[in-house]
Amino acid sequence: MTIQPIFNTDRPILIAGPCSAETEEQVLATAHGLKDKGIQLFRAGIWKPRTRPGAFEGIGSEGLKWLKRVKQETGLKVTTEVANAQHVYECLKYGVDVFWIGARTTVNPFSVQEVADAMQGTDIPVLIKNPVNPDYKLWIGAIERIYKAGITRIGVIHRGFSTYGDSKYRNVPRWQMAIDLMQEFPGLEVICDVSHICGRRDILAETAQKAYDLNFDGLMVEVHPTPDQAWSDAAQQVTPARFGEMMQGLVRRRITSDDPDYLAQIENCRNEIDDIDEELINLIARRMQLVKEIGVVKKEKNIAVLQPERFRALRDALRRRGEKSELSPEFIAMLLEAVHQESINQQEHVMNDGQESPPRQEVPGSLWMGD
Ligand code: PEP
Ligand code: MN
Repeated sequence: MTIQPIFNTDRPILIAGPCSAETEEQVLATAHGLKDKGIQLFRAGIWKPRTRPGAFEGIGSEGLKWLKRVKQETGLKVTTEVANAQHVYECLKYGVDVFWIGARTTVNPFSVQEVADAMQGTDIPVLIKNPVNPDYKLWIGAIERIYKAGITRIGVIHRGFSTYGDSKYRNVPRWQMAIDLMQEFPGLEVICDVSHICGRRDILAETAQKAYDLNFDGLMVEVHPTPDQAWSDAAQQVTPARFGEMMQGLVRRRITSDDPDYLAQIENCRNEIDDIDEELINLIARRMQLVKEIGVVKKEKNIAVLQPERFRALRDALRRRGEKSELSPEFIAMLLEAVHQESINQQEHVMNDGQESPPRQEVPGSLWMGD
């Protein structure tokens, strides 16, 4: 694949606009509020894929006329979500500049293929959001389907992943997946949709800064003239003025530098980190050795591998320990889960005399493989 950039700019790519086009006034007020804020693309959802029925499901094709007015009055280019062939045809008719494929569409290869087929023979640039579930191959599969339809200008949008249970995010970022994508496709423009990751406006700025620090090429932000009155995603939208302030407050850091002073300073730390990483692996290997010894005893006494009480006690102790060292509870939970899973695997190996099935084959460099 030789994917071409859509934006091709040194500046951060900024895409902003309301979650949904609601009224002509609201769309135009947002666009006028954003026209001098350095954005490359104005967004507005015309057809809205809502999780539950009964919520506002988008204004439909009528809103495409408002996007046309945005282009005429502000000179901004516009983008909206397409989820089926009809959406594609309508958007082409009204001159939408860039299409985006939403997270609930990327998840379904039938739908992605339908929109890809409808785009065949056009030269429209397409942004592809990650699927709602953390399935790296499904995301790449969508890129491939669009590319095979003859679309060469493709970018991706990272909007986080659905989760069940407590999280400070609406959609957990699992940044590593976007980082894997950047590494596998150098030059692919990767944009972070901080609004759908956060789901709330109070952590938007810090999350946007994090995206910049992870070398994302830009941001997608939901902007509304009166966010609290928005017909969808009210809690995460910000006013055009707040958007402007937020963007001004972000620091765009250089990817690297050949300044000798910088290199000397990080060299020492990096050496120490390498030593620590080696020690960590040695320590974990020693832990696994002990786990296997316990496995031998459990086998003799016919005791189950999983001991929920012991796991809970361990987890609570580590959480407290982590707090003292300013390690986040999320990190401690992930670390413990990984170590505990490996311990269970190793112990099962001992207890079943190595008869259990081998681990699944994974593509190197990625933790989240689906089929
Ligand atoms: C949106 O951008 O408004 C949207 C519906 O996003 P997602 O597909 O990421 O849920
Ligand atoms: Mn939204």
